[in-house]
Amino acid sequence: MIVKKRTPPLKLLQTETLLDRLKPPNHPKRSLIELDLKKRKAGYKGEITVDYHLSFLTDKKYLIFNDVRLPLAPDYFQIDSLLVTPCYALPIEIKNIAGTLIIDPEFNQLSQHFNGVETGYPDPITQATRQKLFLQKWFYTNKLPCPPIEFLVAFSNPSTILKMASGHKRVSPYDKMIHAQNIVREVSKLNTQYTREVIDLKKVKRLLLSQHRSAYSSILSAYQLTETDLIKGVRCERCSQIMGREIGTWLCRGCGHVSRTAHRKTIEDYFQLIKLSITNRELRAFLQLSSAKTAAEILKALNLKMTGSTKGVVYTKEF
Ligand SMILES: [Zn+2]
Repeated sequence: MIVKKRTPPLKLLQTETLLDRLKPPNHPKRSLIELDLKKRKAGYKGEITVDYHLSFLTDKKYLIFNDVRLPLAPDYFQIDSLLVTPCYALPIEIKNIAGTLIIDPEFNQLSQHFNGVETGYPDPITQATRQKLFLQKWFYTNKLPCPPIEFLVAFSNPSTILKMASGHKRVSPYDKMIHAQNIVREVSKLNTQYTREVIDLKKVKRLLLSQHRSAYSSILSAYQLTETDLIKGVRCERCSQIMGREIGTWLCRGCGHVSRTAHRKTIEDYFQLIKLSITNRELRAFLQLSSAKTAAEILKALNLKMTGSTKGVVYTKEF
């Protein structure tokens, strides 16, 4: 059963919002960001496909955590999907790569052949092995008995062709690279291999859910952009034009739409693109609003965490 559902990754939402607010239509970074958006969408689509296959594991003995990010000093580690049973744990690394993939164990690399173009990727087995080690450490750090930990690399696109480089056989650990539709079969195999119950499911569930933290990082700095590259102002919910403030409401001069709440989405855009805290002045600049009083009312209604004195209050969005 699915314990932690998957939601669209923040990076994907940030990239969409960034394209939506990037200023000139011919901005030099636009095509790169569009390409990244395409990749992130494909990645998410692949993850959804794997979720579908995992959804067949409905028995209570299966705990499925999608997209977990756990603390392990000095940093965090992330797992695309984690299956925990009373007898073993199974982190699953998800890949959505089209075409023919050739795995070369000697160079630890994966090459994609697609539409006549060859592209190199890091060996996913190395990545999955590292996650397995992190998970072992996580059990140890949390003073839990460490269960057997297996791993899988699931390719979500059913038409992807997986091949070993010539002269190599698909032996362990490369037999862990599978098509997503074979996940349930692999789980059945592991069920016969591991029969001793070592995991306290309740405890692991509580710890995993309470320790999970989403990642937040600035998308502007990732593309070496600044706020000056962004379109500011409240977007019309109907036609996307920038709205003006008229007697206590937002008015779109393009389509005539009137809204009392259109600023909410714009403030979400601010948090996604710039940072998780905002002052009255910063809000006015982003909403293109002149009244500090109106800005204060808007901020108050958002129920954000407040810190600082009356003059320099900082409102922070919990994440
Ligand atoms: Zn409009």
